[in-house]
Amino acid sequence: MLAALSLLACSPQEKAGDNNTEFDYSVEKFADLEVLRYRVPGFEELTLDQKKLIYYLQEAALQGRDILFDQNGKWNLPIRYTLEAIYTGYKGDRTTDDWKAFDTYIKQVWFANGIHHHYSSDKFLPAFSQQFFTDAVNSVDASTLPLRQGETVQQLLDSIMPVMFDPAIMPKRTNQADGEDLITTSAGNYYSGVTQAEAEAFYNKMKKENDPTPISYGLNSRLVKRNGQIYEEVYKVDGRYGEAISRIVEWLEKAATVAENDAQRAIINKLIEYYRTGDLKTFDEYSILWVEDTNSQVDFVNGFIESYGDPLGMKASWESIVNFKNMQASERTHIISENAQWFEDNSPTDQRFKKEAVKGVSAKVITAAILAGDCYPSTPIGINLPNANWIRAAHGSKSVTIENITDAYNEAAKGNGFNEEFVWSPVELDLIEKYGTITDNLHTDLHECLGHGSGKLLPGVDPDALKAHGSTLEEARADLFALYYLADKKLVELGIIPNDTAYKAGYYEQIMNGLMTQLVRIEPGKDIEESHMRNRQLIAAWAYDLGKADNVIEIAERDGKHYVKINDYEKLRQIFGKQLAEIQRIKSEGDYEAGRALVEKYAVKVDNKLHAEVLDRYAHLDIAPYKGFVNPVYTPVLDAEGNITDIIIDYTEGYPEQMLRYSHDYGTLPAYND
Ligand code: ZN
Repeated sequence: MLAALSLLACSPQEKAGDNNTEFDYSVEKFADLEVLRYRVPGFEELTLDQKKLIYYLQEAALQGRDILFDQNGKWNLPIRYTLEAIYTGYKGDRTTDDWKAFDTYIKQVWFANGIHHHYSSDKFLPAFSQQFFTDAVNSVDASTLPLRQGETVQQLLDSIMPVMFDPAIMPKRTNQADGEDLITTSAGNYYSGVTQAEAEAFYNKMKKENDPTPISYGLNSRLVKRNGQIYEEVYKVDGRYGEAISRIVEWLEKAATVAENDAQRAIINKLIEYYRTGDLKTFDEYSILWVEDTNSQVDFVNGFIESYGDPLGMKASWESIVNFKNMQASERTHIISENAQWFEDNSPTDQRFKKEAVKGVSAKVITAAILAGDCYPSTPIGINLPNANWIRAAHGSKSVTIENITDAYNEAAKGNGFNEEFVWSPVELDLIEKYGTITDNLHTDLHECLGHGSGKLLPGVDPDALKAHGSTLEEARADLFALYYLADKKLVELGIIPNDTAYKAGYYEQIMNGLMTQLVRIEPGKDIEESHMRNRQLIAAWAYDLGKADNVIEIAERDGKHYVKINDYEKLRQIFGKQLAEIQRIKSEGDYEAGRALVEKYAVKVDNKLHAEVLDRYAHLDIAPYKGFVNPVYTPVLDAEGNITDIIIDYTEGYPEQMLRYSHDYGTLPAYND
């Protein structure tokens, strides 16, 4: 599971010890997006072998980029290749409105790893004319176009243009609308030719009753129906995406030669074995080795991990993050982990749903060195893995907070006017100014280190019982755990929060975001789809209802503008506790109906009038609602014999330059992967 950036504008305050003044965090803005860059502090201080290890692992990370494009939709690679041929080969006028619209569109496609918005999963449409596109494609060297054997340029146009321009074709990547066939109405490429009912029947037949160690069924494959047969195309060296996976394996083999210790080498070798066999039992063995390694400083994720892109929540998109531990900042999460059992025992959930022994909740603050696949350019700020429930229960989970990414967001948001516009009064502004960063970081720590790892299912409850609402409710559970404890005096005792009022900054931001400001990410008239956003509105709108009699949360009006006001923070904490207890009950008992009812009532629908007002106020601030990152560039320094003597890190690469270089150097897959 991952934690997405929850707040659009984090507190604009200087962090002690930072000297970020000369580093330009902003790269460029287009559409609703801003591309930033991040620093990798501490890289220079690593040992040569650690630097080499990171270098090999980041190569392994970049080799997988094309996989995600194809997973996100089968037309994404042919379209990207065509757009890139125009971007580099177009000889016409590059100052026209059509060209500007084209420039924006290709940048959006790169950002989304496809033609559907990375966050809303809605297809975005080109603002240039079809005539311009046809002329542009015809004007470039045909050998640079992704033409199939014997295919003409016109045939290419006939196949990709409706997909790009017709709003009715593949309108959503991941459809979550209750009651529709979620597979046939989703453009994602995890299934081909099968209906939702067929896919569910296929996997239900596989599942064994009362299996204490179930594999993650369907995780690493596409389910296809051909000639009446339904079968899985497994992602592995000699299977689907084999061209990309073999290159990943080559770099992992190099990485194994410079592993920090035997445990880490075993992890890398197990991952290689899994990529060769595609065996999900091997993946579980790998996950156990990985979660139990808490000694290595360098760490990485590389594989088919998160299932947000599959409407049924089974199939995983490919991603990679390479990172190393930030020793100093990890002290905070270490303290939280040490006290995991105390938090579990004292949570407001029913005794029956508590874990008797919270095992191995490890947590650390990390510095990301490379982002790839589904973590690039848009990236999480925290990760908690593995996802398999039984492994989490038996072996614990590893939680990370990616602080150099959070720092980059904070630095880039300084002085953008967001809080001044939406926060009710100087009192709350002051709270956020003073404590916004620490409560943000703590919220992420608590969410990732404790929230996802807490609680247990009652015996016999299917981990997938909450179906399409599972992700939303799981995020709500982790967020509520964090919110409940953010106000606990235990945190003050442990010395990780400065005093017993600081939590109010976190509470205020949570409710303001959930009730109002996250709506800047939603287009007028649309519902909320993404599970982290649904989770936030679920918590805030439900809390508003629960506190109504006591006026705990108020929507106040001033000069025709609406604001969130919190009148009783202590009561709000009790409400969070009540919500946590109920969500935990729903999860532990697998109460699908209760979960569905909550999500449908609070998490999906938007107040249109308030939404319009928020969008209007936001538009005046000229802030991009979504952000992502370019990666630094790592270059080996070689001696006369060709040995690596150092790895140099460079931050100057631009956004289109990086995307084109990646397509050229890491274009591992053919345009069509049928
Ligand atoms: Zn989460």
